[in-house]
Amino acid sequence: MVQTVATAELPVGESLNIQKNRIVPLGHISNAAKRICIVTGTHGDELEGQYVAWRLADELLKNIEDLRGIVDIYPALNPLGINSIHRGMPLTDLDLNRIFPGKEDGMISEYLASETLKDIAGASVCIDIHASNIFLRELPQIRINETLGDTLVPLAKHLNMPLIWIHASATVLESTLAHSLNSIGTPTLVVEMGVGMRITIEHGEQLLSGILALMSHLGIWAKKMPPTMPPIISDDWHVAFINSDVSGIFISETSHMANVSEGQELGFIADPLSGRVLKRIKSPVSGLLFTLREYPVVYEGSLLARILHGTN
Ligand SMILES: [Zn+2]
Repeated sequence: MVQTVATAELPVGESLNIQKNRIVPLGHISNAAKRICIVTGTHGDELEGQYVAWRLADELLKNIEDLRGIVDIYPALNPLGINSIHRGMPLTDLDLNRIFPGKEDGMISEYLASETLKDIAGASVCIDIHASNIFLRELPQIRINETLGDTLVPLAKHLNMPLIWIHASATVLESTLAHSLNSIGTPTLVVEMGVGMRITIEHGEQLLSGILALMSHLGIWAKKMPPTMPPIISDDWHVAFINSDVSGIFISETSHMANVSEGQELGFIADPLSGRVLKRIKSPVSGLLFTLREYPVVYEGSLLARILHGTN
């Protein structure tokens, strides 16, 4: 059933509603029933999660007899942003993921953030789905702060994502939804995948099967799910960054998520005016091409690719 989590009056006489779809088991819900929250659409230009929100609701409603707990799906924390192709909140251009935990008596965006946080708090687990920007295509991955590794990695392993990227605590942004929830004891996993402003169906299906597998592990879903692939955990790996040192048009010659060898040509930078190839881009290492430039126009310094490679 669709419920309104928070509402705010807009100056134009309309109201801004944060909504969720609460899906519950048939019949009586036990007090011990667990709850999982799926949150997306915090950034209005990241649409990969829209597909997952739709598919998850669709799958649960078709198999409702297998549901044993509560599933709350929040498809659009920034509904105005999604409707107007804005990353931030269109009224203020604020990044919604920089104002958590919000304020009950603050500005509209702070109030909405505070109400949303209160609504999710206490769930057994929350999954916050993001996409990359329009410039880079990302392998489906879960990003975890190193201080939370012990709690979150065991949950993340069920999500059927090929990579768990554990990052240093120095790079943590304290005003994100995930940080705010994790700091009040609601385990929250951040998924990043695909590319901005697009939907990549295979990534969405992969995450959907992972969410169902995690729900099955937590006892929220009665169906036995096939075992998920063990993820690569970035701890044991290095990341090689490839940046452009010229400006031009990047033409990729490798598919995203390919295993590449040292010296392999990944693509080239072309100059449409002179008809010349300005630079051939070679991989400095052998490994997994987990980030690949999607937007062709590049400048000196633009990131072209990231490759995950072994320690030796
Ligand atoms: Zn995002």
